[in-house]
Amino acid sequence: MEFNHLNDSKDMAKDGTDSANPYEYGTQCFSSGNMGKQVRERMENMANHTELNRRNFFKSACGFAGAMLAVNYATGMKFFNVSEAEAQEVAAHEEVKQTLKGKTGFVVDQHTHICTRAEGYIKGVNTTEKGMWFVDLLDGLGKAMGMPGGTSDMNVENFGKLLLDGSDTDVAIFNPFGFREDYGGKDMIPIEEQVEVRKAHPTRTIMMGGGLTPNQGVQETLDRLEMFVKDYSISGLKLYTFDSTPQKGWWFDDEKRAYPIWERCRELGIKNIGCHKGIPFAQFMARYAHVEDFDKACDDFQDMNFIAFHSAWPYHGELGALKGFKPQRTNLYSELGSTFAATVSGRPLECAHVLGTLIRDLGEDYVMWGTDSLLWGNPQWQIDAFRRFQIPDELVEGHGYPQLTDEIKAKILGGNAARLWELETATNELGQPTARVKV
Ligand SMILES: [Zn+2]
Repeated sequence: MEFNHLNDSKDMAKDGTDSANPYEYGTQCFSSGNMGKQVRERMENMANHTELNRRNFFKSACGFAGAMLAVNYATGMKFFNVSEAEAQEVAAHEEVKQTLKGKTGFVVDQHTHICTRAEGYIKGVNTTEKGMWFVDLLDGLGKAMGMPGGTSDMNVENFGKLLLDGSDTDVAIFNPFGFREDYGGKDMIPIEEQVEVRKAHPTRTIMMGGGLTPNQGVQETLDRLEMFVKDYSISGLKLYTFDSTPQKGWWFDDEKRAYPIWERCRELGIKNIGCHKGIPFAQFMARYAHVEDFDKACDDFQDMNFIAFHSAWPYHGELGALKGFKPQRTNLYSELGSTFAATVSGRPLECAHVLGTLIRDLGEDYVMWGTDSLLWGNPQWQIDAFRRFQIPDELVEGHGYPQLTDEIKAKILGGNAARLWELETATNELGQPTARVKV
């Protein structure tokens, strides 16, 4: 299989448990993916020329700079704006990091999760075999990213520690998972448990409702939506068009099953509606991960915003076409969770094509940053990699992609989401831009 990051991650789980150090895991992603062998060989060489010893180098910010540098060398293309000095001296890396932070602004992570519930996931007791497949997949990824307990470490405490305090993320948007047919009749992540994230960090998090599945009954779905708004003050929705009901899925443009939800959202003042698109994983049917249903929904509900999570990758071309050929559209967004992490670390050319396509076709005002952490642990390595990522000149010329300027990066990393969620922005004592949720 050409792409199986989750299998790759199983090999990565063996060493190190310092989840607070994102660079160790970022480097592991680069050195275990498609280009892993070439990255490792070049890094071994670099290790002899740093001020750190070999073991520390592979776990350090310098090592991570080295991994990006190795990709540049191995491909002969300049995907990352990174210098040799940064792979050699901690101070050089830190200086560049702060400069880039000032230039590319605050960070709003459109795509985050906890992934626990009090009763846990016990196969045969409250979790089906198919449901367990997904839990195992997330457990493996979590362990590879320095969380030895897998999903049980994707908890409220670590959300604060790894994601909000441990990275440059200013504000994180999070959502629950449903699929209750696979999890003993209860949502995989119940809203009453995940609301604790917002209680702990009211100015730094935004909660979306989730798990609404009209195949479980349209009236029941509308009742739950109303309960989410009235009892939990959700700010938006993030749904899944594949589901675990016998029907297997539904579409956003279904006038009987979906439109009543959007109409009720309108009455309740919910404007931002996201959906998992692309990444057709585990027990779910790939056809429902396509994005064609956004076309009519965007036209029929122009006062609402529709967000394609994961940027619909590997169907991002379809997503782009929904705006590329319909430039009048102003309510279609994408976000990069898991898609950036999975491509940048082993398939940089594909990463450049994905970003280039989205920015060219959807427009620089409609692409939003997301990491899918805590599934990926501390997201700082992803932030560092994005701040340095470039679309090589030959692709810019040959495909009409825009250059990834600092200005465009600032919009993607935070500016677009700040507009969508009406965040409060300011400048901190170091002169760096910040964002917070109005409460
Ligand atoms: Zn996610």
